[in-house]
Amino acid sequence: MTNEKFIPIKSANGTYSLPFVVIDKMRDAIDKAHISGKEHGFNLCIEDNNNIIKPGDMCKGKECSIETAEFRCKENEKSIGIFHTHRKESYPSMSDLSMGYITGMNCIGSFEEIKCFARKNDLDALAFADIKNVEHKEKQTADHYSRWIHKEISDREYRNIYSKYKKEVDRIIDNYFNTIKVR
Ligand SMILES: [Zn+2]
Repeated sequence: MTNEKFIPIKSANGTYSLPFVVIDKMRDAIDKAHISGKEHGFNLCIEDNNNIIKPGDMCKGKECSIETAEFRCKENEKSIGIFHTHRKESYPSMSDLSMGYITGMNCIGSFEEIKCFARKNDLDALAFADIKNVEHKEKQTADHYSRWIHKEISDREYRNIYSKYKKEVDRIIDNYFNTIKVR
């Protein structure tokens, strides 16, 4: 059909069209991830002469890592980002944001919702360093989490650490990404 429905996604590289058929494929990946217990995903690709997003091949688990990600668009297409599933919520991890910053976009799907985080501005070294720095804090926060689980720090201490970290993540999202709720 020529008048296919889509959702516009504004990014540093212009506005892409995310067709409903691709959103259906995202839903399919969410179902598959739920059944298998493994993360599913695919590349988001476009052809040179238009801005309509097409899905790359589906990957699952470790196959979805960035090393192989760029090879999953067709020969006449280029990758403009990735989609992957989360078990519980569509809130991004810092490594999701850092990958989204580099590739251009990271869309995350769970039963709750599907959200895309698209880079707002051109690649910038200082912005990327800022993101990497908060990504490092994510690892530290995970360490604090295990200390809290082992009762080495109090509920209040951990809550403080976590809420500071969460504010940093929200700042990164606001500063560098357009957040698009797809579903
Ligand atoms: Zn993720």
